[in-house]
Amino acid sequence: MLLSGEPDVASPNWVDDGERGALLELINVGKVFPTIPPVHALTGVHLRVMAGEYVAIVGQSGSGKSTLLNVLGCLDRHTEGRYFFDGIDTADLSDAERAALRGSRIGFVFQSFHLLGHRTVLENVMLGELYLATPRSQRRRRALEALEQVDMSHRVGFFPTRLSGGERQRVAIARALMGDPDVLLCDEPTGNLDSHNTGLMLDLLDALVARGITVLVITHEESVSRRADRRVRIQDGVMTDLAASLR
Ligand code: ADP
Ligand code: MG
Repeated sequence: MLLSGEPDVASPNWVDDGERGALLELINVGKVFPTIPPVHALTGVHLRVMAGEYVAIVGQSGSGKSTLLNVLGCLDRHTEGRYFFDGIDTADLSDAERAALRGSRIGFVFQSFHLLGHRTVLENVMLGELYLATPRSQRRRRALEALEQVDMSHRVGFFPTRLSGGERQRVAIARALMGDPDVLLCDEPTGNLDSHNTGLMLDLLDALVARGITVLVITHEESVSRRADRRVRIQDGVMTDLAASLR
């Protein structure tokens, strides 16, 4: 589908914009799952996120938000268009290079926390730096620092099962910060939290943005998306407000 005002991706202007230094740039990206029948989860997606921005992606369940986050996080490959991460064409990267990119530059936060139940809080956070060949003592020190940043220093020896939802999500953020990421990709980070803990989580994201981390939050909650500097809407795999997507 062609949206009115859709940029001509072949035009010199468009290319110049990309070279001006977007951290994340999707150009006409599509994602088709090869099921029978195939699912067109993303279609013609244009998105540009500059370093330091705080962007919310809003859409109903099934609109393609998680698919988009998986592509942005190099967890899954797009099937059409081009995705540049800090100027790097991600299609040129091998699986190992994509894993290295994730480990060194991208942090993930998921709705269901994804913590290992049989590991302590400290161990869970230390595992956030698995891809880097950092000595264990250094990883431990950095994990303790990350836990301090999310106000969880008093629970380092706990197992996740003993924590509240809000505490688990703060541990997940500490883990995401371990590789010192440029960008934090959050998929419904407040989906399992009550309003009090949602507020704490949003305060924490504000603090990370203030430190210069680029934050992208996927949500279907208006109250969560309102905290971001910019809101982008997705519906049936299509960005519905191109001006917001490309600002
Ligand atoms: P959201 O996160 O907005 O709820 P998703 O990105 O999870 O939406 O899904 C978008 C669409 O793609 C849905 O119709 C979903 O059923 C479909 N989908 C997601 N993952 C797969 C997959 N691995 N194979 C086939 N279809 C999928
Ligand atoms: Mg989802």
